Amino acid sequence: MKVRQEIPFKGSVAERWYFYCPGCYAHRVAQGDTDEDALIRSLHVCSTAKHQFNFDADFPTFSPSILSNFTPGDVCHCYVVGGKIQFLDDCTHPLRGQTVDVLDIPTPDPYYELTKYRLEE
Ligand SMILES: [Zn+2]
Repeated sequence: MKVRQEIPFKGSVAERWYFYCPGCYAHRVAQGDTDEDALIRSLHVCSTAKHQFNFDADFPTFSPSILSNFTPGDVCHCYVVGGKIQFLDDCTHPLRGQTVDVLDIPTPDPYYELTKYRLEE
């Protein structure tokens, strides 16, 4: 599984799907993050309000492109097509310009663990 549906907030309508980005992960590890911190900080979330998704968890495709710059100075811009990420040239991480597989969702999944409290509300 390469993408997973986020546990929704109460009352939210759009579905949100997330994946761990190997480009942002490599960047965070190079910055000295622990594995778990690097994973959390390499998360990208796509809302079906903004992105079209093929609903295939193993060979995901999102369109349009995904742009992430939540950390000042760090840009990740990519297409996700058929389970592969095409990193564009404006990325600031080591996989800029490359095409690689989306990371498999790890077990345990740190993001899911952080957000599962939502189920109990
Ligand atoms: Zn990324």
